[in-house]
Amino acid sequence: MLNLSVLLEDSARRYPAREALVLGDERLSYEELNNRANQVANLLVSRGIEPGDKVALSCPNLPHFPIVYYGILKAGAVVVPLNVLLKGREIAYHLTDSDAKAYFCFEGSADLPIGEYGHAGFAQAPECREMFVLTADPAAPSAIEGVESAGQVLAAQPVQFETVVREPADTAVILYTSGTTGKPKGAELTHSNMVLNAMAANRLFDSSPMRHDTSLLTLPLFHSFGQTVSMNAGLAVGSTLVMLPRFEPAAALELMERESITIFAGVPTMYWSLLGALEEGVDVERIARNMRRAISGGAALPVEILTRFKERFGVQILEGYGLSETSPLALFSDPERDPRPGSIGVPVWGIEARLVDRDWNTVTGTDEVGELALRGHNVMKGYYNRPEATSEVTDNGWFRTGDLAKVDEDGFYYIVDRAKDMIVRGGFNVYPREIEEVLMAHEAVSLAAVVGVPDERHGEEIKAFVILEPGSQTAEAELIEWTKEQMAAYKYPRLVEFVTVLPMTATGKILKRELGQVASSL
Ligand code: AMP
Repeated sequence: MLNLSVLLEDSARRYPAREALVLGDERLSYEELNNRANQVANLLVSRGIEPGDKVALSCPNLPHFPIVYYGILKAGAVVVPLNVLLKGREIAYHLTDSDAKAYFCFEGSADLPIGEYGHAGFAQAPECREMFVLTADPAAPSAIEGVESAGQVLAAQPVQFETVVREPADTAVILYTSGTTGKPKGAELTHSNMVLNAMAANRLFDSSPMRHDTSLLTLPLFHSFGQTVSMNAGLAVGSTLVMLPRFEPAAALELMERESITIFAGVPTMYWSLLGALEEGVDVERIARNMRRAISGGAALPVEILTRFKERFGVQILEGYGLSETSPLALFSDPERDPRPGSIGVPVWGIEARLVDRDWNTVTGTDEVGELALRGHNVMKGYYNRPEATSEVTDNGWFRTGDLAKVDEDGFYYIVDRAKDMIVRGGFNVYPREIEEVLMAHEAVSLAAVVGVPDERHGEEIKAFVILEPGSQTAEAELIEWTKEQMAAYKYPRLVEFVTVLPMTATGKILKRELGQVASSL
């Protein structure tokens, strides 16, 4: 069954009455979810959408997302999920670049004020024929004149549909990513990529229908991490997915307690804010009793956060690594072996990893840094309509990730940094992550992000942005001294700035590029 289109209906046949989605008081069974997806497929076919056509979807983590996602797949079409924070011009770019024929867009609500640019984007993409507005209340009309409310047109559609089954090597999803350079490109992921990766995730989390996990779904679904690891993997084994559209640490802790969450997948900044929100009244023990898997990915997990989480919840966070281009899961902690803090683990089942230089020669030897390359069932078909960009990053089935890594003698990989985040100071390569780890080990430091800023003498100078622990105090000079004592002279930061927030992506990754720009304009 290497077909993403039938993943949901397969579970709906096996566990029709089981709860698939929970959002506040709303609870949707597998059968209901599948029926609603069938209505979307019927609508698309009635509007002339054919197998292989692209259909875009912009929606926060609400039941609408999986309903429309699976509806598009059932119709044999390709889903193009869009980041919900895009503005009009960017939406038009994505709709045009992906050749989208139809577009589903959430119109926003008082709780989730997004979506206001959807129509402007659609209006600038003439090849995209249809737009449907997803309203918080499905019975409500669309606020945009001349645009249909998806809920209203779907209500008239039959709940039965014969799924259009595509080949395993056909594209199922196009995920937009900036990759290592340039404009956003669409990574074409096949049915086989997506299904095998969801299965690989379940294998690592030890999830099965018998176990019936309840997972907190708060990673944005338009991004590969939330989409594969939380949504598709969970739906494949009949898990119950508790949706939290906007990550708020207090709300997440409350749901973990109330819904007896067994699996939590998040990016490091989510773990960081959960730890910061543990006030009295949170039943940490109860949360810890239920939670059997805590998974981190998307960015480097500082060892300090891993240690503190273990202390408070008694759960070892397992770290995974991947990219949009690799469906995403590629490496993962090995739960059977001793934890290696700071490591992204070993290649997951069916995936090979090696370190390469610019010319694809293998870099050997422990402690040598090379670019991480991957090969296996998770690697994308290519960038949509961009053969040149694809051939720049692929070679004989191998894909180069743009991340610099090391491997130890037992085969555990360590991300040193992203190639483009590397700072070159006076000819020396400096990896911000190493400095961030040292800064975060200081008792007054809560979070740190290090960037390079232009410098006349050294080309680049090292600057740290630091958020202090609440109630803590320290001086810039003290932190500089702290790092200086522990690192080679060319590495420690010469500039430290205290801040209260750090710019983050919708996924919760710290935006280093933006910090670099802020720093250079100071
Ligand atoms: P995306 O395509 O948005 O999923 O971004 C993929 C990038 O996120 C990778 O190339 C890495 O730079 C970063 N990344 C993902 N997981 C990890 C991890 N566990 N440690 C360090 N960086 C990571």
